[in-house]
Amino acid sequence: MSTADVESRPSPIAGLGLFAKREFAPGERIAPYSGPTTSEPPLESSPGGKVYALEITPGRWLDGSSADNPSRHANHACQPNAELIWDEEESLAWLTALRPIDAAEEITFDYGFSLAESLFHPCACGATDCVGRIIADPLRPALRRHLRFSRPRD
Ligand SMILES: [Zn+2]
Repeated sequence: MSTADVESRPSPIAGLGLFAKREFAPGERIAPYSGPTTSEPPLESSPGGKVYALEITPGRWLDGSSADNPSRHANHACQPNAELIWDEEESLAWLTALRPIDAAEEITFDYGFSLAESLFHPCACGATDCVGRIIADPLRPALRRHLRFSRPRD
């Protein structure tokens, strides 16, 4: 997919990524993240499988897996440059810039995964403090403690 604003191409993080084609200012909408919403959590994904169903507001999941949703290529990162914001009036989620984004920069956001989801989804975002799993930011300190205490001794 390619529009004036974003394009999908191979990412150093994983698979295809979503990349800015121009600069974005903090708070600016980058691209819609579209798909059907449901009040049921998604079926458990296969280990390591791609996940596109995200809990967009408490108790509401958005399935972004459709090929009509180019934003599904946006990767998770531990220090993302965008966030997903649900617009209740439009019934549409938007990838929105968290900080200034350069043209050609990869667009990333926090998938907000639970601890259980994180176990099947390694993170390779490359941040210096990458926790190594795709997991919601508020849960990372607990995961770090867990990983420290469960590491095999040698
Ligand atoms: Zn990471």
